[in-house]
Amino acid sequence: MPVPTLPAPEQVLREVFGYGEFRGPQQEIVAHVVAGGSALVLMPTGGGKSLCYQIPALCRPGTGVVISPLIALMQDQVEALRQAGVRAAGLHSGCSAGETAATWRALESSQLDLLYLSPERLLSPGTLDRLAQLPIALFAIDEAHCVSQWGHDFRPEYLQLSVLADRFAGVPRLALTATADPRTREEIRARLQLEQGRLFLASFDRPNIRYLLRDKDDVRLQLLALLAEHRGDAGIVYARSRSRVDRLCRELQAAGYDAVAYHAGLDGAVRRSALERFRRESGVIVVATIAFGMGIDKPDVRFVAHVDLPKSLEAYYQETGRAGRDGLPAVAWMAHGAGDLPQLRRFIDDSDADPSQKRIEHGKLDALIAFTEAPLCRRQVLLSHFGESLPSPCGNCDLCLDPSTAQDVTDAARKALSAVFRCDSRFGAAHLTDVLLGADTAKIRELGHSRLSVYGIGQELDRGQWRSLFRQLVARNLLRADPERFGALAFGDDVRLKALLRGEERLELRLPPPRRERRREGVAARGASVALDAADSPLLQHLKDWRREQARLQGVPPYVVFHDRTLVEVVVRRPSCLEELGQISGVGQAKLERYGPGLLQSLQAFQAQALGSRQPS
Ligand code: ADP
Ligand code: ZN
Repeated sequence: MPVPTLPAPEQVLREVFGYGEFRGPQQEIVAHVVAGGSALVLMPTGGGKSLCYQIPALCRPGTGVVISPLIALMQDQVEALRQAGVRAAGLHSGCSAGETAATWRALESSQLDLLYLSPERLLSPGTLDRLAQLPIALFAIDEAHCVSQWGHDFRPEYLQLSVLADRFAGVPRLALTATADPRTREEIRARLQLEQGRLFLASFDRPNIRYLLRDKDDVRLQLLALLAEHRGDAGIVYARSRSRVDRLCRELQAAGYDAVAYHAGLDGAVRRSALERFRRESGVIVVATIAFGMGIDKPDVRFVAHVDLPKSLEAYYQETGRAGRDGLPAVAWMAHGAGDLPQLRRFIDDSDADPSQKRIEHGKLDALIAFTEAPLCRRQVLLSHFGESLPSPCGNCDLCLDPSTAQDVTDAARKALSAVFRCDSRFGAAHLTDVLLGADTAKIRELGHSRLSVYGIGQELDRGQWRSLFRQLVARNLLRADPERFGALAFGDDVRLKALLRGEERLELRLPPPRRERRREGVAARGASVALDAADSPLLQHLKDWRREQARLQGVPPYVVFHDRTLVEVVVRRPSCLEELGQISGVGQAKLERYGPGLLQSLQAFQAQALGSRQPS
């Protein structure tokens, strides 16, 4: 039998996947694995992990075996690979007996380039023995952090994957994850016996994501303002509790959005259908608890919004990382307020974790607060948390875009502290703000607080600014919020407190701009992007309609046919022949043959029509 010649990585990248260049450390990783090396790969979500094993699988003899924890994810990957002309199949509990038998036949007659397996299936009786008879190009262990008991997605079956090192000693093993924290990293290396393998650590920066943080005010209205700038976009809204998810989802629906709810309290079928709609249709908004997430590899999620504080900065980074995997501009938006903090602290204190674990959890919360109180640039704080440094401010976060510089707030801070004192340390920021602004509320009338000396003395700031000031005083320990008494504020124990009260110390803080000057959410987010300007063009819509039809005919998600990014490039470059179309990123040989003629035809039809409508009749 003739030995087939194996292609070079660059050739596969170009001809199969239609990409011009490797991204970040991809090239080095691919070369290392093609040469037979094992490795642990840490790359942010959307960084391009899949190619790191898909290309070596095609460049080495035998089948590449990919272990993946989620069926939906496997199905998507298999479908996308088949569209690119790669012989791929999956084995998992969703396959019929007939499909399973056909996959094994293909595998045993060397007809498969890539096989996706759930860990359960890999470890089920007989599978390893059968695989041991076959030439295996490599093992890729996706979402490798599932092996870590420390992390958040622990899967007991992952622990048994160490068997691969023993049984397939000569086969390269590649573990991949987007979780960067050093402790998880070491646990993966130890448990998967990868101590000898190389470590590839990509930058965790996601420059196309714009981080926008807002002081929580009326979060429902703030969210609607954000969504108004994202009509027709797919997005995720994270909320803390199931009841909040249900309520927000109803409100978004009432406001005319195509929103679906997702949380662990919903029936399995309801959850599956929400996930399916999100994946297959464009412009669906999922309102979810953190139960929604792993395995969402939809490339065109344009925004991820947090209406409550996430659990930690790691969780935040992973959740927001689901935005903009396609590299196009995307927004990570979060509304935060001091009101969340006492409750979060109490959750930690009331849990039955041991004291050292509680300290860690409080530390995680502190890191999160440091992010919300970042002095200069969100991205700098984020990246430094992951051990990277960004030398200059990023230019693509709320602080960089709207650098209202720190101002002297000494007088306002003293008024705030007086209000706390005059109200006997029994009230939270909302009431104290009412008092300072001289509001006429039932509570103030009932308590007679309009007679206090501090009543109405705070006209220089608006409500949002007072709330921000109180929040920052708490963060600096000048005030302390008592979770037992609904966030009632009392003096904190910072040493500067007395000096500040006596007027011997000055305080500088950054406050949000006054309300009437605030810009509408996200206006700049759109205008700044050439690519997204193109996204509004009728031609793009026309091509998306064509794509939807192609996807519908085959029963696959639209992005499996072509990514938005590819269609945007078609709009910008207007290819006039197959050769020009083939130059566009994301158009490999198989897709060029399958869709090229139809896509060109659709393009020409649109142009002819546009021309016709411009002719005088
Ligand atoms: P991850 O698994 O790391 O989250 P993926 O492997 O899904 O990321 O890749 C994210 C996106 O980037 C995909 O749409 C993929 O097609 C695209 N991509 C990956 N590598 C390249 C590259 N070298 N050139 C262009 N696009 C790429
Ligand atoms: Zn910045």
